[in-house]
Amino acid sequence: MTADLSNKVVVVTGGARGLGAAAAQAVVAGGGRVVLTDVLEEQGAETAGKLGPAARFLRHDVTSEREWQSALDFAVAEFGRLDGLVNNAGISTGQLLEHETVEHFRQVIDINLTGVFIGLKTAIPLLRAQGGGSIVNMSSAAGLMGLALTAGYGASKWGVRGLTKIGAIELAEAKIRVNSVHPGMTYTPMTEGLGLRPGEGGYPGTPMRRVGVPEEIAGAVAFLLSDAAAYVTGAELAVDGGWTAGPTLKALTGM
Ligand code: NAD
Repeated sequence: MTADLSNKVVVVTGGARGLGAAAAQAVVAGGGRVVLTDVLEEQGAETAGKLGPAARFLRHDVTSEREWQSALDFAVAEFGRLDGLVNNAGISTGQLLEHETVEHFRQVIDINLTGVFIGLKTAIPLLRAQGGGSIVNMSSAAGLMGLALTAGYGASKWGVRGLTKIGAIELAEAKIRVNSVHPGMTYTPMTEGLGLRPGEGGYPGTPMRRVGVPEEIAGAVAFLLSDAAAYVTGAELAVDGGWTAGPTLKALTGM
């Protein structure tokens, strides 16, 4: 089951692999067209190639204001319009606060938060001119709760959640919806080094006791892009197996 995205044109950042690639696939499966962008050129071109004529790839670093303009212009040049933007690109590495370097903290904020800000800023005039659209910002469970070892990452994801609310309020009258998605631990290249197994049981701290798979996050993204979410803006959609709902029964009672 995928949301109906017929005739919608969507830009997905960080679309070469992982959650971005799954979101791009959901757009095409829903009848839309997608421009996936990334700094990984070979993988991005390969992912777009697999999705067929409804997909394009463009190299695009989300920290560059100039490249943002080119990316959105490219989508309009290729497909004639822009209806949606998925601010998905991000990096994640963890350190104790006291071991985090200022340089690394700034780098994470630059990609994960400033990149989203520039994307919003660049897309707004285009979406306004077209009479509306939908922006989905990829935050994290780490943007809904304090997660140790995430210093810059957690701060960036809380920032994305806040920026989403501001966008939702400021852009509501222009019919531009802005929502955030908060994945829990999901099996992608970002997390595979953690020794996780897709969908397997036993993941601690998560009531569903398993990690997620990219398609489960993409389903939420596609819903928010679609007209089925026409009255949804400023929402924070946790897709995390219940991780941020609270402690598991086992943690609470030992059972
Ligand atoms: P991933 O590493 O597999 O994919 C992220 C993509 O972003 C990569 O293709 C990477 O090249 C791209 N990217 C990095 N820096 C970029 C830049 N400056 N410009 C353009 N592209 C850039 O990771 P993923 O797991 O698919 O994560 C996607 C998003 O979901 C991220 O924002 C991540 O923080 C978030 N997220 C992931 C999880 C998870 O468990 N996988 C959980 C919560 C949130």
